[in-house]
Amino acid sequence: MPDTRPDAGALKPLKDWHEDLGDVLWWTFPIREAPWVGCPLTTTWPGYHTHFTLIPEPPERPDEVLVSRQALLAIANQAEGNFCQHENTKRGGIIWTICEDCGQKWADDQGGFKPYEPPAFVVALRALAESVEC
Ligand SMILES: [Zn+2]
Repeated sequence: MPDTRPDAGALKPLKDWHEDLGDVLWWTFPIREAPWVGCPLTTTWPGYHTHFTLIPEPPERPDEVLVSRQALLAIANQAEGNFCQHENTKRGGIIWTICEDCGQKWADDQGGFKPYEPPAFVVALRALAESVEC
């Protein structure tokens, strides 16, 4: 948000400072050092600054990223659609189970067919979705 204070960034002479302004940035000319921050009524006032500017408004906190449960589930479903779920299998030879869709094979003597399980990141996305308030 832009600084809406009138003359917020304008350089003003010391004589224009008053107590209501409080802490400001103090400058010397020519500028050879960083501004001094504070109020001339304090004991730490250096006493040689001739001009001031108001302290800029702090930047706003960036907008938080809002993620909905539906969006996370849509991403998980979309990603999962890229993986064959081995729904069409056939037996091949004596020991093989073969997926007719992707060609993956499982040998009976090495544990046999393993049904599809969603990838870990899909499981994580779904868990994250459950944790998000709608
Ligand atoms: Zn498959």
